[in-house]
Amino acid sequence: MENKDCYQQVTEPQYECLLFDVDDTLYPLSSGLSAQCTKNIMEYMASTLGIEEEKVPVMCAQLYKDYGTTMAGLKAVGYDFDYDDYHSFVHGRLPYDWLKTDHTLKSILHSLPIRKVIFSNGNEAHVAKVLSRLGLEDCFDDIICFETLNPTNEDKAPENDSDEVPKTPILCKPFQNAFEQAFKIAGINPQKTMFFDDSIRNLQTAKTMGLQTVWVGASHKTKGVDYALESIHNMREALPQLWEEAVEKSDVCYSGKPAIETYVRA
Ligand SMILES: [Mg+2]
Repeated sequence: MENKDCYQQVTEPQYECLLFDVDDTLYPLSSGLSAQCTKNIMEYMASTLGIEEEKVPVMCAQLYKDYGTTMAGLKAVGYDFDYDDYHSFVHGRLPYDWLKTDHTLKSILHSLPIRKVIFSNGNEAHVAKVLSRLGLEDCFDDIICFETLNPTNEDKAPENDSDEVPKTPILCKPFQNAFEQAFKIAGINPQKTMFFDDSIRNLQTAKTMGLQTVWVGASHKTKGVDYALESIHNMREALPQLWEEAVEKSDVCYSGKPAIETYVRA
């Protein structure tokens, strides 16, 4: 049934969407921004939530491991704080000037006429700031961020049975319900989507849901990973099929018009 006819391939593209994480994916871990973010989270835990300083590093790491983000974990174990207050303390004070315009990545993304969507656990202001510093504001069609998946600032505390691990009211990667909600809101078909992230646990969830997965910042593949890229800049060499498909598509219908960036809201 192999039919190499151009029009057949065009009507059935392999990829309809490229889904991108932001932090440590669109810019490298070596920027130091994520380390600064962790420092701010720990400071918030001690200074605002009053958690004993000696306990903070272990607790921060454990909650991140168990709940996807430390914030989600803090909510699960009963800390009461405002989402916006947390985000402005943790992200609002980051040294964004450490990030520079990335002309290479911008040109790679612009050369791909496939829908591109951001999927980040970060809040809207943080994602916007990072994209702006990198010069990538016009490279994405939609953005799924913290507020997209958690649209109100009021917790609807989940019912916790006493013998169960406490649940968090926050939806975030790497959990399947966050991916399901993101796909629903942004109209994404996971079977036709390639997902780029630096977090192996996010990729492993994505893989079980049918996405093709690309581990960014890694030099080897492992379970749940289809491709590994040391840098997002290696996309062209590692994933030439994206451009091959793009060429076939552009022969027929691609207008080449720049995408309009919108935040997808629930
Ligand atoms: Mg990341």
